[in-house]
Order: sequence, then structure tokens, then C-alpha cells
Amino acid sequence: QKAEWAKLVHEQTTTKDGHHVELAANIGTPKDLEGVHQNGGEGIGLYRTEFLYMGRNDFPSEEEQFEAYKAVLEGMAGKPVVVRTLDIGGDKELPYLELPKEMNPFLGYRAIRLCLNEQEIFRTQLRALLRASVHGDLKIMFPMIATLAEFREAKAVMAEVRQELLESGVQVAENIEVGIMVEIPSTAVMADVFAKEVDFFSIGTNDLIQYTMAADRMNERVSYLYQPYNPAILRLVKMVIDAAHKEGKWAGMCGEMAGDEVAIPILIGLGLDEFSMSATSILKARSLISQLSLEDMKKLSQDVLELDTNDNVKEAVINALK
Ligand code: PEP
Ligand code: MG
Repeated sequence: QKAEWAKLVHEQTTTKDGHHVELAANIGTPKDLEGVHQNGGEGIGLYRTEFLYMGRNDFPSEEEQFEAYKAVLEGMAGKPVVVRTLDIGGDKELPYLELPKEMNPFLGYRAIRLCLNEQEIFRTQLRALLRASVHGDLKIMFPMIATLAEFREAKAVMAEVRQELLESGVQVAENIEVGIMVEIPSTAVMADVFAKEVDFFSIGTNDLIQYTMAADRMNERVSYLYQPYNPAILRLVKMVIDAAHKEGKWAGMCGEMAGDEVAIPILIGLGLDEFSMSATSILKARSLISQLSLEDMKKLSQDVLELDTNDNVKEAVINALK
């Protein structure tokens, strides 16, 4: 089987009836690019920049960040690279950033909330990103967006940083797409409104499931509630994809669910445009997708959206693929 998959490294990802989707990779550092190339990644769908900030004693400088972003953009040679701005807090702490202990870190001061409040951190990262933008196809994505106000503010800060760079004679790419992670239920519900302002969505199911089901993704005792195929999750995912398409935007997914063999047929049927996963899952996913037909998966996804439980959805997909 592995040998069969290896033949797909340089192939596009297409269903048997000719529908193309993009299979991208999630990475944490420029070193991960080797695995992306070996496994035929068509882009980077999620560059988790927090690893640049972790395991050290101080913030990475603008220059250090610029080098890392440039390395990834050049390494991908013009293929799309979605860089997520800093998503620290929650379970991810920095030793040099003292934050008060919180009762509910996953519901607390993290990601874009922190970046909008401590703007020097955010602006330094945006400067590095915008400077790097001329070296490839950069797309910028904000994490943990809960309201339109947050998105607008983040975008406004970015516009200021861009203006400052241009005024000091630094080149910045013209049409950088700016999108958001959809990982908070309020944002999924409001996707039709967001879709008018963002360039793309990337659905972060790792958090979207935890927040929708109110089940801590790290807590084994409630892991039975961590249900990717629960129709509640599938309906939210459908809302986000439909909202994007209605405005002519694209929708991707970068949570674990994007590489899940039971979820993939449903997501194809729902019209997901981009699947971002760990590089090692790409070839298997490409092989699976090449055996599916878009028309059949549309029907399957309509059917499972009418089902009642996670288990029944799972069973229906497995039966349909037999
Ligand atoms: C997600 O929440 O689905 C996601 C991709 O982000 P992270 O796992 O880094 O929280
Ligand atoms: Mg997340």
C-alpha cells in the first residue's frame, strides 16, 4: 500500500469524477518542509508560528522571524503558505511571558486576544511576515477569532504595519490573502457575515469540537464527548463552507479532522476546498480521495447530516465506502 501511495507524490488530488481539492500540510518549523515535499504537500495550510516562540528565554526578534518565514515561503516555491499569527496561551505557555494563572485557560487570555492587547508582540510578527511576503505566496491567518471586531482590529493593525513598511521603503506583496481560523462556535454561526470580509476560512476542528461540545480536548474523562462526526459539528462545518462559497471565498480545514478517513468523504461532499494535515497523512488521503466520486459524496453528506449521533454517522460512512 505504501508503494501505491508513493506513486501519488507528484500527483494532484482529484476525485474519480474530476473534482480537485488541495492537500496541504500543517507545519511547526521550516525543518518540517522536508517531510512536506516527501509526501507531496500542495501547500502549507497551517504554519503554527508559536514554536518559534517556545523553548527559549526571550521573544524571537523580527529578524529571526523574517528568516523563518522567508525560508518556508522560498522552500514552497510559490505554492500557498498559510501562516497563523501567534496562538499562545491556553495549553501553550511561554516562560518569559508572565501571565496570571487562570481558572479556564482555554477560555481565557490567548491567541488574538493577547496579540491585540500586547501589540508590540503582534506588530513585530506582522512586520516580519509582511517583509517576507515578497518571497512566495503568503496568506495570513488569525487564530481564535470570536467576533468581527477582533478581525477588523487585527486587519487594521496589519494595514498600519504595512503602511509603515512601505513608507520606509520596504517592499510588501500586493495581494496577501487574510483569513481566520474558525474554531469558536460564535464565528462558525456568523460565518455568512465574516465571509463578506475575510479572504478565506480555515476550520480548526481541534478547538471547534472542544468548544462546541464543552469538552476539554486534553481531558481523558470527557474524551467520549470529543465527537468529530457529531451532526452538531458537521452542521457547523457545512455552514462555514457554504458561507465561504456564497461570497466566492475558499474554505479549508486544518484540525485533525481534515486527515481523518471517516471525515474526508463527508468533507468532500460538503465541498471543502483545502485539507491541511500532518504531512504523513497526505498520500493516504490523496489515495482515498481518488477513489471517491463527488456526486456520491454529496449525497452521502446530505444523508449523514440528517442522522442523530456521532456513531451512526461513522457507521453510515463506513458502510457507504464498502
Ligand atoms: C485547531 O484548533 O483545530 C487547530 C488547528 O489549532 P491548534 O491545534 O493549534 O489549536
Ligand atoms: Mg486551535
